[in-house]
Amino acid sequence: MSRPDLVVRGGEVVNADSIVRADICVSQGRVTALTEPGHAPSGNDEVDATGMLVLPGGVDPHCHVGFTSGEFTTLDDYPAATRAAVHGGTTTIVDFGIPTRGERVVDAVHRQRAQATQGFCDSALHACVVDWDESTGAQLDQLVGEGVVTVKLFTTYRDETMANEETILRTMKHLSPLGGMVYVHCEANTIVEDTQDQVARSGDISAGHHHETRPELAESAAVAAVLALAEHAGAPVYFVHQSTPEAVALVEHARSEGRQAYGEAVVHHLTLDESEYSAEHPERFVCCPPLRSARTVQGLRSKLLTGGVSTIGSDHCCYDTEQKLLTKHDVRSMPNGLPGVETRLPVAFSEFVSSGLMPVTQFVDLTATTPARLNGLYPRKGLIAPGSDADLAIWDPEATATVGTSTLHMATDYTPYEGREIRGLPVTVLVRGEAVVRDRDFVATGAHGQFVPATPLWDVVRAG
Ligand SMILES: [Zn+2]
Repeated sequence: MSRPDLVVRGGEVVNADSIVRADICVSQGRVTALTEPGHAPSGNDEVDATGMLVLPGGVDPHCHVGFTSGEFTTLDDYPAATRAAVHGGTTTIVDFGIPTRGERVVDAVHRQRAQATQGFCDSALHACVVDWDESTGAQLDQLVGEGVVTVKLFTTYRDETMANEETILRTMKHLSPLGGMVYVHCEANTIVEDTQDQVARSGDISAGHHHETRPELAESAAVAAVLALAEHAGAPVYFVHQSTPEAVALVEHARSEGRQAYGEAVVHHLTLDESEYSAEHPERFVCCPPLRSARTVQGLRSKLLTGGVSTIGSDHCCYDTEQKLLTKHDVRSMPNGLPGVETRLPVAFSEFVSSGLMPVTQFVDLTATTPARLNGLYPRKGLIAPGSDADLAIWDPEATATVGTSTLHMATDYTPYEGREIRGLPVTVLVRGEAVVRDRDFVATGAHGQFVPATPLWDVVRAG
């Protein structure tokens, strides 16, 4: 064997279905071999992973970068978002090309894609369809050819990104034969708006009442409706940020009938509850769907642990407190979303793996392997095996930290997890064989991020 560029020696190599102690040889950005410990040849560089877990770098299936919604734009760009991502062990983000008013679907994607090379890790993209018109089908054909095979649709946010049922159905029917899949934000807008009206009439629709304005029923109703459209279209479907056990159960049921239906949970819905809306900074926790009751959070966690959820995403939206405060008196005009690309893996690892609730293999499956698979990035991403990109998160399962804004790298002034004690942290992070974080220090010599074209999801579309 020729001398590898890099050898990661002596760690426990974790994939979604296995844990083996092995040395990992890396050349030209890819894993070239896994050998028994001590059997790898000397590399030009070496990383000692003794006592560490070596995980596939995280794949965040849901990450907004420099996202404009209404009056507000999130505060990061590719350098900032990906620098934060790699500090948290994530090496691929999937961002969104969401059209501003009048912008074409392809142009929104190209606008985001142009920034990929400014990143410190790799990225892929979801497109977004708001209104189906006679040009949309050809635009989707073009995008699938360019490696964008997933399309986001929203059932809420009237006059912004809301798509009607006809648009959702047409997008499903067009994408599915191309090996593409829709990603749907499900909250029934009619129920949301009527509930908002009721809360507003009661005299206070400020951030402290956010959770009252978007009921769980709105989510279940929209999931049921979109599942029906997907069944009619014979199309696969992915539900972003599922926040209730009832919504997850609808998707599980469809899957049990052999349909291709997948659900994502995000870390804040799994680890925070609506009590934040009566605490000191309710505005910082305004996101859609909102944080739910403690009972609902327990139910969602049970669904996660019993395999009802397919992926864990961040739904990273990097607003700061000042932006959140501007329209705090009326949640209908507030910027929605929480920062989370950096905390996704450490908070979830601590909460579920360190606590003994979840095997680390399942953690890898939820945070890297299945996100890669459902985004057409597998086996290049989400797997440690010969031929895969050498995206590695070398993880100290015993390291402890207190989460705090001062030690994080996201372009905002707060974290929803301030003060939380966590166990298990990435120590060294490689992107295509290059160390970007080493012994917790940022050591990237420049931005080497790439846009990773997704391949059609034939295994997803045809499975079952
Ligand atoms: Zn989102």
